[in-house]
Amino acid sequence: MRDVDSLLKDYRNSSKRLLLLDYDGTLVPHADDPRKVEPDEELVGILAELSGDQRNTVVIVSGRDKRTLEKWFKNLNVDLVAEHGAAVRKSGEWKSVESIDDWKESIRQVLELYVDRTPGSFIEEKEFSIVWHYRKADPELGQRRAAELENVLMSLIAGTDLNILKGDKVIEVRRAGVDKGRAALEWLSGDWSFLLAAGNDVTDEDLFSVLPENSYSIKIGFSPSRAKYYLRSVHELRGVITGRRLLEVLLGRRGIALREKLGIRGVLRKSVGLFCDEAHNVFSEKTSVQAVAQFMVENNIGSVFVVDETLALRE
Ligand SMILES: [Mg+2]
Repeated sequence: MRDVDSLLKDYRNSSKRLLLLDYDGTLVPHADDPRKVEPDEELVGILAELSGDQRNTVVIVSGRDKRTLEKWFKNLNVDLVAEHGAAVRKSGEWKSVESIDDWKESIRQVLELYVDRTPGSFIEEKEFSIVWHYRKADPELGQRRAAELENVLMSLIAGTDLNILKGDKVIEVRRAGVDKGRAALEWLSGDWSFLLAAGNDVTDEDLFSVLPENSYSIKIGFSPSRAKYYLRSVHELRGVITGRRLLEVLLGRRGIALREKLGIRGVLRKSVGLFCDEAHNVFSEKTSVQAVAQFMVENNIGSVFVVDETLALRE
């Protein structure tokens, strides 16, 4: 992602800011068991700081259910969107779309067949939807069964007001007309001078699609997206929303210390194989040290030297 500096500048110059943040895969990395991914200490600290600033409105826009989100964020002054928009909590008050449950039973029976046929997969029932998770299944089998299940569900829901949501290693069935974009409208009518939204999967595209032109929309990961910017990982996003420049995020603590000590502009961490320069050019983890060195010399970025097994770039 280029433009991190202008994002941070805009942020600092704004007095009314809206941050719409997806949870799984955006603020925390995905885990095999989605029930286990509670906010860690670092994240709680970040959210406390952001939401403690009077100028900020922080909204967690998640597919998780109300109860889980309430439990996890109970001590934080954040607004919540649960179940991809089926329920929203604004200034402490929950509002929901109505829930009619009788459709769930027939869908559940189909999903149960797929749980039996796909070891490692399981069903999660939420207040407004029912979900088949296959992250823990064998990837190839999971993919194949997911495609089959999608076909079965498509014919099953034809002519109803249900729809299918394909997320990252999940298939979810829910009532139509509920999505993160629609939920975000609750906040978007405000007079914001800075607006940032971040998400990692297809359900976040609905959110990106309703944002005004001057917003910062950030996709975590590299699959095609409506978002304007891409970051590679939860780690990078956390860095950006805590106001660190991308270079610092990528370099990590040791890299920053070296940078300060030696007055260098960039550092290649040999162990990680990651290099990024002032212009935020990022090399892939597979790029060899020699290739990066050559690039730097050819582009007059600087001279290259080695410190503590770390290839560094002198100003
Ligand atoms: Mg997500």
